Amino acid sequence: MPDVATMEKIVALCKRRGFIFASSEIYGGLGSTYDYGHYGVLLKTNVKNEWWRAMLQERDDIVALDSAILQHPKTWEASGHLAGFTDPMVDCRTCGQRFRADHLGDLQCPQRPSKHPGEATQCDLTEARDFNLMFETTMGPVKDSGATVYLRPETAQGIFVNFKNVLQFSRKKPPFGIAQIGKSFRNEITPGNFVFRTREFEQMEMEFFVPPDEAPRWYEFWRGARRDWYVELGLREDHLRLREHDPDELSHYSSATADVEYLFPIGWSELEGIANRGDFDLTQHAEHSGEKLEYFDPQTKERYVPHVIEPAAGADRATLAFLVDAYDEDELGGEGRTVLKLHPRLAPVKVAVLPHLRKDGLPEAAQEVYAALRRRMQSEYDEGGSIGKRYRRQDEIGTPYCVTIDHQSLEDQTVTLRDRDTLEQERVAIDGLPDELAARLARPWRSPKVAAQA
Ligand code: ATP
Repeated sequence: MPDVATMEKIVALCKRRGFIFASSEIYGGLGSTYDYGHYGVLLKTNVKNEWWRAMLQERDDIVALDSAILQHPKTWEASGHLAGFTDPMVDCRTCGQRFRADHLGDLQCPQRPSKHPGEATQCDLTEARDFNLMFETTMGPVKDSGATVYLRPETAQGIFVNFKNVLQFSRKKPPFGIAQIGKSFRNEITPGNFVFRTREFEQMEMEFFVPPDEAPRWYEFWRGARRDWYVELGLREDHLRLREHDPDELSHYSSATADVEYLFPIGWSELEGIANRGDFDLTQHAEHSGEKLEYFDPQTKERYVPHVIEPAAGADRATLAFLVDAYDEDELGGEGRTVLKLHPRLAPVKVAVLPHLRKDGLPEAAQEVYAALRRRMQSEYDEGGSIGKRYRRQDEIGTPYCVTIDHQSLEDQTVTLRDRDTLEQERVAIDGLPDELAARLARPWRSPKVAAQA
């Protein structure tokens, strides 16, 4: 059965419910930049928190970092970005549009959308030339004499240039990691597919520094661990795969790279890359800065440059994958329902409190339940419209539980608890409700779409 989720439906839902929408809309939008609204912020924050949990809370060999977006321009000389962070670009002399030369097969000719650029008779493409993806700006008040600086195109280099600092204050020794989440900027030639490829995006990157002879083992470990992270958060396993790079795809410094790919509506595409980067980064920064970036083992008296295993993920791309995987449509009481079957830990709102009627003391009783719940988890109160409509509103944003307060609640201090996925309703005591919900949210969860597909 084909997946009901299409990119158009995801974009429409995100706009309708204020998850994600085009930036600067009142001025006609700005080439593929997006703003996140309330539910989008909550969802992406949950994605990032789950990453922090996996990196920091559940391990004791990784520390956090938040480095500046603007870094010394020499950083980008040393990392190779100034010389080599380029994509091949072609122009069409007929329509005046630019395309990424290595993506022509995925793109549409603006004048003949059924064809790829270069395929229609009127297309007239230039030779491919390199285009540097870094955004440039000037530091200091005088444009002409100020120093040229760059908006970072990845968060990783902020980690490498801080290697020595972190080694000193964290009292860690290899193998250990430094993790960072933050904005990165790339002047992509052909952004698109909603937040899959934008010019401003958030990355979640971790550099794991290891003794050189342990690098192959840690590479294997992180490949598996990063794939499992997506599975644990509910992505369907048959929509996930690990793809090892062919030797001709590898960066010159990398001995092995694998992508975690997800089957988006646009086809299998990269969610995250895991690379064995060797000692390239630390060696480069040591050479360009004159600082020694190495580890001295006091026990063995050995001095060495650690090798680096890097899992590099995108927070926006992951959020999009979770949205796509969760999107479902079904029929309920003769009416169509759109529902986000998100992992409860990722859901923007965990529980909605709904008084059955807007009278007879029910709103007051519901407000009390709401006050108790919101101390523990992201909750919402809604008394507008029929119960069916209110359930539908919550289903559409992926709220796993709805609590309804009715006349019986006033008599026996119980409420109806409705499950988004099973649609089961049961009476639960108000007293134990926050604990009951917290316990349910902590349980392992699998996408009900898997069972439906079987
Ligand atoms: P691609 O091949 O898709 O351009 P990449 O291999 O250049 O990606 P990396 O440099 O490995 O990407 O960045 C790590 C992660 O950052 C990617 O797996 C992706 O999730 C995210 N990412 C990279 N570029 C973008 C972008 N333009 N928009 C959104 N996310 C991005």
